[in-house]
Amino acid sequence: MTWEALEEACRACQKCPLSATRHNVVFGVGPRTAEILLVGEGPGENEDLQGEPFVGRAGKLLDDMLEIIGLSRAKNVFIANIVKCRPPGNRDPEPSEQAACIGYLEEQIALLKPKLVICLGRIAAGVLIRPDYRITREHGQWTIRDGVRYTALYHPAALLRDPRKKPETFEDLMRIRETIREVCPATAAGADFL
Ligand code: URA
Ligand code: SF4
Repeated sequence: MTWEALEEACRACQKCPLSATRHNVVFGVGPRTAEILLVGEGPGENEDLQGEPFVGRAGKLLDDMLEIIGLSRAKNVFIANIVKCRPPGNRDPEPSEQAACIGYLEEQIALLKPKLVICLGRIAAGVLIRPDYRITREHGQWTIRDGVRYTALYHPAALLRDPRKKPETFEDLMRIRETIREVCPATAAGADFL
């Protein structure tokens, strides 16, 4: 599978009911050579309309968080979601929708071969790290599987709802920066603040 074939398949997909209400499939954004993958849960309204992940208010906060440690979607991180089409009203994606869509993310991971995977929020961590993942207790901790390091941050939308969580997220970002220095040489060499 190539990136082009995968993207084409995803854009034509009708494997779950979310295809009926979407405006755009939100495939993902960023260099296809990135060492770091970020994964959210699913597109919101702005993302559905623009066809790009994390472009609303939460996306602005995410970009600001990434910038603190020298990362950006333009330069060195790929950003994707568990489901590629918007759940109506921004509800959580149903388990059946996640199951229908997860193959695309698995292919993206196989093509990208990221060194670090950063889950944004409970839903992504529940899929990619452990079904019973507890974001409040476990955010910022690392799990290594098949040589790939996985962690999770609070979802930026959760940080907008509860800014008291921001200091913990800053600490998590500092630890992520340390790990990038250890295992992502290309990223560390190319980024400011690293
Ligand atoms: N929230 C997500 O989880 N993903 C997006 O792309 C936007 C908001
Ligand atoms: Fe296909 Fe995923 Fe969109 Fe469902 S959410 S239609 S599985 S691309």
